[in-house]
Amino acid sequence: NVRVRFAPSPTGMLHLGGLRTALYNYLFARANGGRFILRIEDTDQTRYVSGAEQKLEEALDWAGISPHEGPSQGGNFGPYLQSKRLDLYHGEIKKLIQNGTAYHCFCTPKRLELLRKDAARRRETPKYDNKCRHLTSTEVEEKLARKHEFVVRLKMEWSEEPYEDMIKGPIVHNVAEIEGDPVLLKSDKYPTYHFANVVDDHHMKISHVFRGDEWQASTPKHIMIYKAFNWSPPQFAHLPLIVNKDGSKLSKRQSDINVEYYKDSGYFPEAVINYVTKVGGGFGTDELYGFNLPQLAEMFQVARIKRQYGRLDPLWLEEANKIQLKKKIKCPDERVKLIKFIGNIVQKEFGAINEEYIGRVLDWSIAENRIVKLQDLVGSRFIFLWSTPTDSHIDAMQTIDPTVKAVLINCANKLKNVDDFTKDCLADVLKCHINEEKMKMMNYMKIMRMALSGLKEGPPVAEMMAIIGKDSTLSRLQNTID
Ligand code: GLU
Repeated sequence: NVRVRFAPSPTGMLHLGGLRTALYNYLFARANGGRFILRIEDTDQTRYVSGAEQKLEEALDWAGISPHEGPSQGGNFGPYLQSKRLDLYHGEIKKLIQNGTAYHCFCTPKRLELLRKDAARRRETPKYDNKCRHLTSTEVEEKLARKHEFVVRLKMEWSEEPYEDMIKGPIVHNVAEIEGDPVLLKSDKYPTYHFANVVDDHHMKISHVFRGDEWQASTPKHIMIYKAFNWSPPQFAHLPLIVNKDGSKLSKRQSDINVEYYKDSGYFPEAVINYVTKVGGGFGTDELYGFNLPQLAEMFQVARIKRQYGRLDPLWLEEANKIQLKKKIKCPDERVKLIKFIGNIVQKEFGAINEEYIGRVLDWSIAENRIVKLQDLVGSRFIFLWSTPTDSHIDAMQTIDPTVKAVLINCANKLKNVDDFTKDCLADVLKCHINEEKMKMMNYMKIMRMALSGLKEGPPVAEMMAIIGKDSTLSRLQNTID
């Protein structure tokens, strides 16, 4: 039975790396008829950010990767919040103390600090010297009776036995040598990440763990905890890091690493998913645009996940979003939604606009590849779609060139007789008119564009005219002339 989990700590927003981890777990579950579980790892009370778990759930929901079991969904293996499972951890830690694989450690923070300083002076990595391993049971009883503060540590054994990573193959990493005996239960009686993570994966019957590379160093420690309990560990798959295009690490200060940012900027969830799958690999092809979750699940192959870190290229996201736009506009239900979405923004900024017109604008902007996302349509570049240029633009234009007025009048007269108000036909009409006026194409277009939109740059003039339509084109020209 395949059971996988995404186990974020509620310390902030869901970022692209987290989304990728959640997604790959989800795809693996889906591909194998398994279950995808959300578990919130909130045992580090010092790093807790209030409201973070709700945001995480919202972001997952938006992306369409909803858990089968989790804090909101419930399930047979809950609670799915570690802070609600403290009794379980306390019961389990006793087992390890009893079987001699874990021990009470009474070393004070002050002593540990001294060890750290000492190591720093010798330019070594700080390491706990396992002092309390050697306390006799009477000594331990005595200290407990006197209510000395304690943590519980695991007796880490030196091991060169490799474990098999599903992505990277055999991995050997000797933690015992590096850090000394790790803490399982902290003095505040909360478990450490390592301990709670293992206990929960076992009790939630997790079969496979897909997680970020940064946890790989902890895995031998986790395997040791499984051994101490005599439990069999799940299979591990460590996903290579995702980095920025220039190779730098994703940082919390970057606004564009959070899923919420993409949602708010108007990217489609399918596009964001395509973006991270393209970086991470794991499918038969690199051309992942336009695939939906069920299709991705069908194509998903662990053996194809990239082993090297992947660079994000924002152009991929743009490409993926444009492809989604093209797909959605063809589907009647989706089309209605897109029109409503634009309608709402336009109404707030410019007043109500009829839906038939918005539909036309959308078709045009998508067909002509003018936008990456819906919101682009209400940006300053496209202001002419929703409002007529202000008089100040017109004044400015007339002071530049006094012959402008005549050109505009002539143009308006010609356009009055044009019935086929399409881009191609209008382009021909304009071309003829330019010749008649003996003007330079660039100057002519500049004047027209300014008259129609008040902008110095924008789509070709014929295209602009076609999209705003005959009435609006003529009235805007008229406006300039009067
Ligand atoms: N709580 C860890 C995190 O925030 C979980 C790592 C793991 O999957 O084991 O990512």
